[in-house]
Amino acid sequence: MACAHITSDESVYLHALQPTRGPVEARRYCASCGLIKEGGGRKLGHFINGLAILDRELWKRKRQDLKPLTDVERRLVAKAMESDPVLNDAYGSTLRMQIDRMQFIILKYRQVPECVLEVAFG
Ligand SMILES: [Zn+2]
Repeated sequence: MACAHITSDESVYLHALQPTRGPVEARRYCASCGLIKEGGGRKLGHFINGLAILDRELWKRKRQDLKPLTDVERRLVAKAMESDPVLNDAYGSTLRMQIDRMQFIILKYRQVPECVLEVAFG
């Protein structure tokens, strides 16, 4: 079962996420499993909405030979999203990691131009 993540009271010094802040910075971690807290991760619902935006964008571009997602493709992508550890862990994932993962999952089932993926997931 996945950890519910409880942020520790203390921090550990690790390499800085943004080097402009200096070489190291204090980072929080989960007191239960030890996972370092990343910044900016989103919950699964954010990406479910992104999938709907992607679908709408494909509908809009039907004349450009882009087909909307089929029901089967939508279900397969949603099922893969629900079981993906990166998308389901807003605590230990950055938004960039999650977007990359989301694009990887979609491209596994369907070729979608990068410009459409950018509209849906940023
Ligand atoms: Zn945890």
